[in-house]
This record gives sequence, structure tokens and C-alpha cells, in this order.
Amino acid sequence: MKEVIYDETWDVLVAGGGVSGSMAAIAAGRLGAKVLVVEETGYLGGALTGCGVGPMMTFHAGEKQVIRGIMEELVQRMKDRGYSTGHIYDTMQYISYLTPFDSEGLKLVLDEMVAEAGCQVLFHTFVGEVEREGNRLRSVTVCNKDGLHRMFAKVFVDGTGDGDLAAFAGLPMTKGRESDGAAQPMTMNMKYINVDTEAIKEHIRTHIESFSRHQGKEELMDTVCRLSFCGFQEEFRAADERGELDIKREDVLCFETSRPGEYIVNTTRILDHDGTDAVSLSDAEQVGRRQCCQLDRFLRAHVPGFANAVLEFTGPRVGVRGSRQLVGAYTLTAEDILNRRAFSSVIAHSAYPIDIHNPKGVGTDSHFLSEMGTYYSIPYETLYNREAENLLVGGRCISATFEAEAAIRTTPTAGALGQAAGVAAALAARGNGDVTALDVREIQKCLREQGAYLDL
Ligand SMILES: Cc1cc2nc3c(=O)[nH]c(=O)nc-3n(C[C@H](O)[C@H](O)[C@H](O)COP(=O)(O)OP(=O)(O)OC[C@H]3O[C@@H](n4cnc5c(N)ncnc54)[C@H](O)[C@@H]3O)c2cc1C
Repeated sequence: MKEVIYDETWDVLVAGGGVSGSMAAIAAGRLGAKVLVVEETGYLGGALTGCGVGPMMTFHAGEKQVIRGIMEELVQRMKDRGYSTGHIYDTMQYISYLTPFDSEGLKLVLDEMVAEAGCQVLFHTFVGEVEREGNRLRSVTVCNKDGLHRMFAKVFVDGTGDGDLAAFAGLPMTKGRESDGAAQPMTMNMKYINVDTEAIKEHIRTHIESFSRHQGKEELMDTVCRLSFCGFQEEFRAADERGELDIKREDVLCFETSRPGEYIVNTTRILDHDGTDAVSLSDAEQVGRRQCCQLDRFLRAHVPGFANAVLEFTGPRVGVRGSRQLVGAYTLTAEDILNRRAFSSVIAHSAYPIDIHNPKGVGTDSHFLSEMGTYYSIPYETLYNREAENLLVGGRCISATFEAEAAIRTTPTAGALGQAAGVAAALAARGNGDVTALDVREIQKCLREQGAYLDL
């Protein structure tokens, strides 16, 4: 088994098995490529299974579904197995639809889909070095229980979220916002079971003046099968003034998962830490857990429905919203998004707004497309840099400005970008491995055959 894994030359080696890496692997595998996924944890799904992140937001632009393809298959498979409600209205209408799911179910379904596509997965394995020869990556060095190994492939896909492969290959990268390099805060999510949803709804209804995101949309709480809510600003501020909270945020943000009464609390904020610096990341885990401890006391005391809830877990590891971005052949900007620039080389769409958690304190800065139901496109050129002809990035580390990353960073989009990277990688591997020389129309044709929606 070991020899088989380590002695192969893979058509496509995908580093990172998050949603982008998993989609890349499945897409490439379905096109006949011999694919290896190298993932540092023991499961697929990345932030969704490893950081308590959810729900998936969003596949839709208003009523129109603009992210389809393998991500949609994933949702339907989970729905068929009772692991997801499918797409439902957001009770806050921050976005139109969101997609709750059970993270344990997601792990199983991703295992299944990756295996069906004929991909090999090597868990508990970290890519720590890249060997580059001129404009090509030759191998990556991985570390695991078997020690250090060099692994070879024709084409590499960077699904690490942080752009590890691209950075280790010496490609130009950016980090954080242009003015001061600060990244969005990290968050240690929490998951609770046994939350009393009816008690929360009743509180929101009777204190609607304090729940601005819910005003005028109260009826959604009666018609939608899962609750998402945001509020408790006054209680949060008062607890902050009493010195009970050390969290630079202004409110509590919660999402019910596909399991009734199970909630994700997305509220801690770890400022001034760097997801690509091991010391900083280690500290972030501990700061995050301390904030979770404070927040747990706050929720039980001040948020109806949490008094008897059970804290299932924190993390399990801290969530990184943004870190490195590749400087690619094209860099997506906020203007492209807000002006809905139509790229002929489109490989994915999204309608998620620019959603910036303040890197330096309280506040969240959201910029929506001017018309509800509209969406933007992301071009193929954001996935590669010509200095490395056989490397593609997928997911949140594509070539995008700080502001644009704050829009494309969420799961459905990251997955769609991963699928595009996987298709391109498989096509390039059929030839000389050069992803920069592909005819984008061929990539688009394959993506459409795999169910993607690319109409401009
Ligand atoms: C706190 C928080 C809340 C969020 N909330 C939402 C939300 O509600 N809805 C939503 O849709 N999105 C949300 N997001 C965004 C979303 O979760 C991520 O942006 C998305 O998962 C990105 O997918 P990815 O595949 O690019 O990266 P990731 O999910 O980060 O996956 C990267 C994978 O690569 C692995 N890896 C990393 N480095 C290496 C290496 N060197 N070698 C081997 N493996 C490696 C990791 O273990 C991981 O499995 C949130 C993010 C955070 C941090």
C-alpha cells in the first residue's frame, strides 16, 4: 500500500481536502485523472467539518441558483440521507437561501464521492515543501507517520485555503488588506445541542425592536424549518462593560444546523493573528477557547433557549477567514463584484456579498450587489500564475483583493472554484500539464457537462 502511494506519479495531486480540494479531486477523478488528495486532518470538508463552520452560504442569487455542479450533488446526496435540509430561506435574509447540514454526514458523503471518483486520499499528511524546476512544480514533500516523502504529479492543485503550495513554490502572494496587511479576524466557532428554538423565536418576536436583521421578516421564523438569528447587542454591550467578555464584536450570530436544536455560534473574534504563522495560530487557538468560555457563560445567562443547552464542542480548530492570496494572471476586485463584470473566461458564479469582519475591532462591513437576484462571475485567470504552469489554486486563496476575497470565501463558491480547478487540472494532465495554455472554452464545456451553471 505504501509503495503504491509513494512511488506513483499522479496526474493530479490535490493538497488540502476542504470543500475546494474535495471538489477538485472529484471533478478531476471523473475526467479519468489519477488523483491523490493529501490532507492534514483525518477527514474531508476543511472548515465545514474541522472548524464547526456552517451553514453553506449561498448557492443562490435571490431565487436563482447560480452554484450547481458537484456542490449541488453533494447537497442532494446529504439531503437524501437526512444530513441536510437542502436550500432553505435565511430567516434574517442577509442572503436569500442558506444550506444547513450535519457535519458528520458531510464527512461520510465526501468520503463516498471521492472514492467513487477513483481518488486516493492520504490523511494525516501535511505538505511542507515544494520542489520547483523553472516554471514547473516537480514534487511536494509531505510529512506523516511514515516520515518525510517526496510525491510527484503532472499537475498540482492547491486546496489548502492558505495557498501553502503556491507560497512554498515561491509565487507572489498577498496577505490581508492593502493598507496595513491586517486579515479578517479568526473565529473559534461553538456547537450546541438541546437549544430551545421556540424560546429564542418568542424572545425575538416580543423584542423585535432590538433585532434589526429580523424586522419585517418575522413570519419567516414560522415558515422556515431552521432558525438563523443575530442580535442581543444590548446584553452583549452590557456584559462587555462589566468586563465579562473580551470579544470585539457587537452581537451574537447563530445558525441552526440540519439537526433540530443544534446551533453553530459564530461570534468569537481573534484579532491580529496570522493563520500562516504556526506560533500565531497556536496562540489563536487558546485565545479562541478563552473567548468561548466567556461566551458560554453569556449565552446561558442572556440568550433564551441556551440555559439547558449542551456545548458539543469548540472548534475543533480555529477558523481562518483569510490569509494568503495568490497573485494570479488576473486579480478579482471589489469593483468586478459590485459592477458584476462579465468575464468570458468565467468558471464560477457567486452572489455572496462582500462581508468583511473588522480586522481591528467591532463591526462587520457588508456590501451587497445593488439588485437582489444578481450575481458576479469569477474568471479562470484567478486560479494560476504563469510562473508555475502546472499549479492551480482553488477555494479561498485564489487571486483576489482583500475585499473580493471577503465575498468569494464562502463554501459554495470555494467548492465551485475547486471543481473548476479540478477540471482544468485533469485536462492539463492529459497533455503536457500546462494549465496556462488550456482553451478556457474546453474547461467551460467540461464544467457544464458536470452540471455547473456558467451563463453570463
Ligand atoms: C469562522 C468562520 C465562519 C465561516 N462561516 C461560513 C458560513 O457560515 N458559511 C459559509 O459558506 N462559509 C463560511 N466560512 C467560509 C468557509 O468555511 C471557508 O472559506 C471555506 O471552507 C473555504 O474552503 P477551502 O477549501 O478553500 O479551505 P478550507 O475549508 O480551509 O480547507 C483547507 C483544507 O486544507 C487542509 N490543509 C491546509 N494546509 C495543508 C497542508 N499544507 N497540507 C495538507 N493539508 C492542508 C486543511 O486541513 C483543510 O482541510 C467561514 C469561515 C470561517 C473561518
